[in-house]
Amino acid sequence: MFLRGHFKFCVNCGAALTYNIPAGDNRERAACTACGHIEYENPRNVVGTLPVYGDKVLLCKRAIEPRYGKWTLPAGFMELGETTAEGALRETIEEAGVIVTLQGLYAVLNVTRVGQVHLFYRAQMHEAKWNPGVESLEVGLFAEHEIPWEELAFRTVSTALRCYFEDVKRGAFALHTQDIT
Ligand SMILES: [Zn+2]
Repeated sequence: MFLRGHFKFCVNCGAALTYNIPAGDNRERAACTACGHIEYENPRNVVGTLPVYGDKVLLCKRAIEPRYGKWTLPAGFMELGETTAEGALRETIEEAGVIVTLQGLYAVLNVTRVGQVHLFYRAQMHEAKWNPGVESLEVGLFAEHEIPWEELAFRTVSTALRCYFEDVKRGAFALHTQDIT
């Protein structure tokens, strides 16, 4: 699948970018018509956690678009200069006000339609306390039967949660990799 990015102007000189296949390349790139700069566009990583307290999982109700008012796991775009684990911890603090202990990478989910890879860590909460950040309307703990399945924000979130509760029943946690199509 070819996903065309959203860059319109050259970061070097400000001239218009046009999409064509550069010599020696094999796919269309956003190339500058004036200076020849090529703007390479690659998938972005979304990192987050699946915070667990007892038999419950923490979810955040989104206070931002897209999917305002829907429930999600704490997650967001990875920043330059941080590791995936650091990004996951940061997002959990920013969105839920919860400090967790990571228990290993749990899900790697490709969302090629939007050019993203979502990575979720299983994470242990140490107390049932939180402090919703500006991106969250509210935060809560949910047992499996309490999960608002129809009100989840993203398919990556529902996929990670379904895997988690299946693994709980199995009594073993494995790394899950899936392509969200
Ligand atoms: Zn240029």
